Parts: sequence; structure tokens; C-alpha cells
Amino acid sequence: MENEIKKDKISAVCIACRKDSLFPFTKKNGFDIFRCSECRMLSLNPIPGISDVKSIYDKEYFSGGGKGFGFVDYEADKEAMRSAFERYIDDFTSVLSGPGRLLDIGAANGHFMKLAGAKGWKTKGIEISSYAAGLGKSQGLDIEVGTIGGTKFPKGSFDVVTMWDVIEHLSDPALDIGQIAGMLRPGGLLAINTPDSGSMFARTLGSRWHLLVPPEHIHCFNRKSLKLFLENNGFEVIEIGCIGKRYTVEYIIHRLAHWQNLGIWKSLLGFVERNGRIGRIALPVNLRDNMYMLARKIKNS
Ligand SMILES: [Zn+2]
Repeated sequence: MENEIKKDKISAVCIACRKDSLFPFTKKNGFDIFRCSECRMLSLNPIPGISDVKSIYDKEYFSGGGKGFGFVDYEADKEAMRSAFERYIDDFTSVLSGPGRLLDIGAANGHFMKLAGAKGWKTKGIEISSYAAGLGKSQGLDIEVGTIGGTKFPKGSFDVVTMWDVIEHLSDPALDIGQIAGMLRPGGLLAINTPDSGSMFARTLGSRWHLLVPPEHIHCFNRKSLKLFLENNGFEVIEIGCIGKRYTVEYIIHRLAHWQNLGIWKSLLGFVERNGRIGRIALPVNLRDNMYMLARKIKNS
């Protein structure tokens, strides 16, 4: 058995702990997922190319989810994070003694930028989808269409960089984090949220975990691996938490109907659609499988 595993071992090192310790874990949606025996990081292997990834983020990803992944309603998903987002913005302001310049990577239609702007932050965004960026630009937001590697911001341009539900989508986070460190001033903050593959929910479901979705999610971190990844790239982690979201009853039933395809959810959906007030009630949902990390760029790095 030991020999069999060794035969399948690949030569690529883990992006988080940098050890040569990736082994096959499972196969899903036709993609092979490897796990690091040191830090439990999960990564697709081979990594899909950027052109394959870019084609995922068309209009359907942000509005329809017709391909079986993505958000049924992107706006509803981000709205569910509003209270967490507002708390984080207040944190940045307090840690840095006032608002400053903020870059939101994966800004989509600029939902977070608007919240930060309302609290005094000067915001810029980068977004891979021209459809989503266009929605934000039409509201006067400063969003550039492109990827982290394609940006040309001068060194130290920002006090805070945010990446909401982004790092798991990147082909080469190790390359991008170097670029991000360059854009941040020394002592600047990097805020990340991403699925936590080490959470109880993820470990219980194994390969059936709903956030293990290749090729959309390429790298699934856990608390240990994300902390190691940040420390290995010139950051110190100053806060770790998990993000709970508040969804409307209608949205939750919509998702259940989509995942399970059972008649009962469809009947319930019809009921709440006819009774608008019930559907609009927001319920907190926290599966504790979505983590938040705030890190500071180490001075002089
Ligand atoms: Zn590792």
C-alpha cells in the first residue's frame, strides 16, 4: 500500500508549507485533487490554465448558476455578508487609526467597495469578469478588468488589500501574493476569506463537501495552511475567525431545491414566493466552513 501511494506521489511542492508532500486525495468533476500530508492543503493537480478558468466567470456565474456551480444570485450572497463586511471595515479603520486606500481583488460588481467607500475609504477594484465590473463601473466605481498579475500599481499604493472568496480560485496564489505584498505599504493589511477545508463540516462530508468544486475552486486552504502560506510570504496573521452569513428564507429554500432537487423544497419555494413577507426574513447561517484571516505585511519586507 505504502509503495502504491509513493508511486502516485507528484513532484510539485505544497503551495502553503512548501514541502514535497502532496498525495492523491480524491477525484471530482473529472479533476484530481491532491492533499498535503504535512498541512492538509487541498489542491487540484494539474492546475487548470487561466483561459479555462476565465471562461467560468461569464454572466451566468454572477446571475444564473446555470452550469451547476457559481452563485444562483451573487447579489444575495454578498448581501448576506454585509454585517460581517461592515465589522471588518471598522476593524481596518481602527487598526490603521483611520481610513485610507483600499484595493478589493475580485471586486465583482463593487458591493464591498461601496460599503468601504461609505465609511471613508478610497477604493479601487480588480475584477476578471468584464460583465460584473461593468455593473460596478456604471455606478461610478473605479474597477479595472483584469487579474492580479496584469495590474501595474506602484509599490506601496494601498493600506489594505481585500480578497473575498477569491484565493481558492487562483491558479498560482504564491505568485499573486508576492504581487500583493508589493502593492501594500509596510504594515498594511491583507484580509482574506475562503472555504475552510479543515472545518468539521468539510471533514465530515469529505469529497462531497459543497465547497470542494473543481475547476472553480483550485486550492482549498485550512486554518493551518493559510496561516503558513501568509507567514511564508512576508505577513503576520493578526486575526482568525469564521464568517457567518444572513440569508433570506427564500434564498435558503432556493439553494436546497437546487442541491437536492426534491419536490418538497419546490412546493415550499412556491409557498414563500406567494407570501413575500416570509421569504424576506433573514436567517443567520453559519456552517463554520468559511474562514476569515487578517494579516499584516511585516515592515521592511
Ligand atoms: Zn502543505
